[in-house]
Amino acid sequence: MITRIIEHAHVVTVSGEEYPDGHIVVEGDRIAAVGAGPAPAVEGAERIDGTGRLATPGLVNTHHHLYQWATQGFAPDGTLFEWLVASYPTWAKMDAEVVAGAASAALAWLALSGCTTTTDHHYVFPSGRGDLFAAEIEAAAEVGVRFHPCRGSMDRGASQGGLPPDEVVEDLDTILAATEAAIDRYHDASFSSMLRVAVAPCSPFSVSRELMTGSAALARAKGVRLHTHLAETLDEEEQVAREFGTTPGQYMEELGWLGDDVWFAHAVHLHDADIARFAATGTGVAHCPSSNARLGAGIARVSDLLRAGVPVGLGVDGAASAEFVPLAGEVRQAMYMQRARYGPGALSARAALELATLGGARCLGREAEIGSLEPGKLADIALWRVDGFYEAAADPVLAFAYGRTPPLDRLLVGGHVVVRDDELVTLPQDEAGRRGANAHRRLLKLAEGVG
Ligand SMILES: [Zn+2]
Repeated sequence: MITRIIEHAHVVTVSGEEYPDGHIVVEGDRIAAVGAGPAPAVEGAERIDGTGRLATPGLVNTHHHLYQWATQGFAPDGTLFEWLVASYPTWAKMDAEVVAGAASAALAWLALSGCTTTTDHHYVFPSGRGDLFAAEIEAAAEVGVRFHPCRGSMDRGASQGGLPPDEVVEDLDTILAATEAAIDRYHDASFSSMLRVAVAPCSPFSVSRELMTGSAALARAKGVRLHTHLAETLDEEEQVAREFGTTPGQYMEELGWLGDDVWFAHAVHLHDADIARFAATGTGVAHCPSSNARLGAGIARVSDLLRAGVPVGLGVDGAASAEFVPLAGEVRQAMYMQRARYGPGALSARAALELATLGGARCLGREAEIGSLEPGKLADIALWRVDGFYEAAADPVLAFAYGRTPPLDRLLVGGHVVVRDDELVTLPQDEAGRRGANAHRRLLKLAEGVG
């Protein structure tokens, strides 16, 4: 078992304690000790000098679409619905090779911005194009991040009143059978799990009522979590009101979709009653500030959600609605958007860091295992370089949160080094970048009918 000791770092546990000159002892895949001052001597341990470094929990990304690395820049000034309609015909042509390449690049990008655990929400499964779900799982194992892929789905094409064209949707029975098979094959519920599957129909405007309720029943029978997009735009709110006579939040409650096993992406347009119901049921929210800004969707009521006690995590969302957005940068984006709307006291740097760590862990049901630096938790740790230019800041947490994200000295996932000196060590990052670019080129060719 490898023992690593980080010493003399500014350690932010996020669970309460902060040590300006602290240590963390890692034994195997767990944190053995965290505290002030030098660490106790441990025979044979690797010692890491944390002078000029800020140690935080590894960041948790609660919403993403890895495949979208291949379609960045589509409908650059469109609304969500315009952007989706512009993208669906191209997405319909993706295959497992496109997903593998896009996922490698997107996951490498995430790791390089301090992410140790990420979800993915993949909801386009064109038939006869290989095993797309397996492709992203392989990519995550290679990059070395903890992975929570959500088996997404859409069954309501345009002919059924949905937004997507019929060619990108599947039928209900196929979806539920494939989702169950994915859970049986991949889901690992263990404490140190690197791979957990969630059930994730796409959104109220692309999924039937039957698929929503069938998905909830399946997830609960299997003991896995539920995820979907909700209340992202006013267009969605209008559509749900027109079709179902409810708000998006009321609609999900009707379908049995509130609970501490559910987290929603976006939840921008919430009513006071929705926030109260989310808080009462433990329903979580993945806040994606850059994507919401890029699509002009609005600013989520994060400070109201936090005040009510709702679990809130951060998500970068897919790279096609949040191009080249680093997860660590979302700490700043979340903080500044809340302050722009509600005033400077709306979200502190430390509260924003908590969203990116413990808040995300709560959304994924893993607060016992990740999200803070505490003995017994998994050794998912980001060590940021706050020396050099960053030393001029009054407080290293502000240096991390207020401006450009500092370089990453090390990123540990379960005690394994995934990033060192801002370089991915598990997969050469130039190679990851090439794979992403190739996936983009391949998908455009497939969409043109050339490939
Ligand atoms: Zn999304």
